[in-house]
Amino acid sequence: MKYYSTNGRTAEVTLEEAVVKGLAADKGLFMPKIIKPLPASFFEQIERMSFQEIAYQVADAFFGEDVPAEQLRHIVYDTLSFDVPLVPVTEQIYSLELFHGPTLAFKDVGGRFMARLLGYFLGKEKKRRVNVLVATSGDTGSAVANGFLGVDNIHVYVLYPKGKVSEIQEKQFTTLGQNITAIEVDGTFDDCQALVKSAFMDEKLNEHLLLTSANSINVARFLPQSFYYFYAYAQLKKLGKADHCVVCVPSGNFGNITAGLFGRRMGLPVSRFIAANNSNDIFYQYLLTGEYNPRPSVATIANAMDVGAPSNFARVLDLYGHSWEAVKREVSGAAYTDEQIADTMLACWKSNHYLLDPHGACGFRALQENLLPGEVGIFLETAHPAKFKDVVESIIHEPVLIPEKLQVFMRGTKQSVPMTSSFSDFKDYLLRQ
Ligand SMILES: *Cc1c(COP(=O)(O)O)cnc(C)c1O
Repeated sequence: MKYYSTNGRTAEVTLEEAVVKGLAADKGLFMPKIIKPLPASFFEQIERMSFQEIAYQVADAFFGEDVPAEQLRHIVYDTLSFDVPLVPVTEQIYSLELFHGPTLAFKDVGGRFMARLLGYFLGKEKKRRVNVLVATSGDTGSAVANGFLGVDNIHVYVLYPKGKVSEIQEKQFTTLGQNITAIEVDGTFDDCQALVKSAFMDEKLNEHLLLTSANSINVARFLPQSFYYFYAYAQLKKLGKADHCVVCVPSGNFGNITAGLFGRRMGLPVSRFIAANNSNDIFYQYLLTGEYNPRPSVATIANAMDVGAPSNFARVLDLYGHSWEAVKREVSGAAYTDEQIADTMLACWKSNHYLLDPHGACGFRALQENLLPGEVGIFLETAHPAKFKDVVESIIHEPVLIPEKLQVFMRGTKQSVPMTSSFSDFKDYLLRQ
């Protein structure tokens, strides 16, 4: 399968090049040239298939030409070592719990898949070590670090802003050791991102080291997110409730929802999608006005959605031929303030005894407000509420239990490399590796 750039000013590349490079040379995002529809027989029996089996069929449509069946099956099964259950919250609304992986957020799926696919490509050609640089404001660093932990020939550097991530988040990528190095930058998240970008552009550094990125622009992180949309549908179909299914996705960079839209293009019978925003409502405004106006993000309690210029917007536009009308036919929007998010969490806890995290709360509320009679809604519960313990406890006024998986990280010892926000210091450090 060839991959083209959304900017269309560079030649098509192979899957391996797209995965290793991350971003196209013209700064566009890679798109698969063909989105293969899955056969009717697949959808007829989907409710009788396991998550891994469904995911393998979807993965085969994207990657089957480039990765031998045996290896691809192994990568998929190994990635999905945890369940993604569909849990009822009300009669009409279901939660797709994406927080049962190692770091308790949906990014585990893409992080683990990308690590294994990159490991396969590197092992095949006995190349020198690849260095993955990732800047994080919290969740991405832990999913990527844990996904790549122990993978041969790959070293991961997680850059994070000192004192600006929660203790739980910090422990998830500073206690791992092995091929993971945490770099604690005396600066902001933007400084971390600037260091990573400068590193990719620095000629001397790139002669010395093979560098790649692991954020959601990478096709190997982004496409596997489509797997669980099919599995969600399968679970709803098993209950006999899948005829008018609406899927709602709490969205920041729009990688997650775009993978769902790819799924629909492959034939997944979802009636429509809803993108739920927090106060960073750039996409919602686009749906209302047809104008896309990125702006600096503002901090909210759903902080993983604090994005002012959603990087996967280019993929959404490309998928719908740059037609606002076409986007609006399949995707609607919603946007909520912190106060509305908190009200929703409290009300849902009281009425349904289901504990939402601040991101999932946006999704749940958008379904409550938008579902029509006869429709059944699924929202993606993108992280475990315990990851946002302080915020959640201050809203429901009850203690939130920390799952054992998170407690294990808490008991580890933090190890990090202190770094200034000056690129020459970071470059010197990398050159010494
Ligand atoms: C990353 C993240 C999101 C946003 O996902 P996008 O793919 O960037 O739209 C939502 N919720 C949580 C908990 C996240 O970590």
